[in-house]
Amino acid sequence: MSELRWHPLRREWVITATHRQDRTFLPPPGHCPLCPTQPGAEPTEIDRPDFDIVVFENRFPSLSERPPRPAVEGTDLTPVASAFGRCEVVVYTPRHDITLAEVDVRRIRHLIGVWADRTRELGAVEGVAYVYVFENKGESIGVTLHHPHGQIYAYPAVPPVPAQESAAAREHRDQTGGCLWCGLMEQEERDGRRLVLRSEHWQAVVPSYARWPYEVHLTARRHAGWLHELTPSEVEDLARTLKALLLKYDRLFGFSLPYVMAVHQRPTDGGDHDAYHLHIEFYPPNRTERKLKYLAGSEAGAGAFINDTLPEETAARLRELPPQDAAELVDADELVDPEGRPLVGA
Ligand code: ZN
Ligand code: ZN
Ligand code: FE
Repeated sequence: MSELRWHPLRREWVITATHRQDRTFLPPPGHCPLCPTQPGAEPTEIDRPDFDIVVFENRFPSLSERPPRPAVEGTDLTPVASAFGRCEVVVYTPRHDITLAEVDVRRIRHLIGVWADRTRELGAVEGVAYVYVFENKGESIGVTLHHPHGQIYAYPAVPPVPAQESAAAREHRDQTGGCLWCGLMEQEERDGRRLVLRSEHWQAVVPSYARWPYEVHLTARRHAGWLHELTPSEVEDLARTLKALLLKYDRLFGFSLPYVMAVHQRPTDGGDHDAYHLHIEFYPPNRTERKLKYLAGSEAGAGAFINDTLPEETAARLRELPPQDAAELVDADELVDPEGRPLVGA
């Protein structure tokens, strides 16, 4: 069962997806559905012995091209709609015990190309209002499969976060003639205290309004809206900057840091979104090595985030960790030790 139910108080859609209760939950090693199928072994989701990057439809999709009939009928106050859309899984390495931080630059570049292609294709589908590329990493984020993978959701309505950002950007443009993100980037360059990484085409900062202690926003220096608008050198630079940021994250507490990575691109609903500026947001749940930030009373019930760290201090901490310059990352093979184990923080 899957459908959209309108929340008239928050004015947003809630997606029901009851079949997701049955999905695979942390399968034992050797039974990973995202590992390549070994010759003679039982087949996984990926029916070949090796691959570079694979994209397929989620077996337990919340949104689908042929959505089931809603379980209940809507009313004027609480409309119900069918859960049209698409949910895809992006498996970007055949290696089970690696993370995006450890994947080589060449493969990350290819992955960005895959995200861009899927965005263009799904965004062109009639009825798709928003294409969202994201990755949940780590058990503390609720990941149900260890094998590194990202996801792509094509929504039938622009979800609340990008919708709010786009409205803010539109209003700012109408009032000032300028781009909100371009203005924020300039301010961060001038101030300098919250910069984490600077490269030719990208800027990574802990924004002054960070809601999570180590939240980072990675923004394109050029006013682009979608990944498929990036030039090859912007993609190349993004691959290095993304990897450099994730390596910093893993060095922060000395373990592979969980996070939510949210790629924020321009909506595809045909509305006025020219003011929207491509950026990627990262929310690690860790406040400290051991303590996680939970969405508690103020956050969950009132929507007011309390960040008990100073962005100027967390940014300085991330900035000082290596690598300090994304350009120094080489196009090497995945970083592994002689036994083939990934080198975390190498
Ligand atoms: Zn696996
Ligand atoms: Zn801009
Ligand atoms: Fe955003």
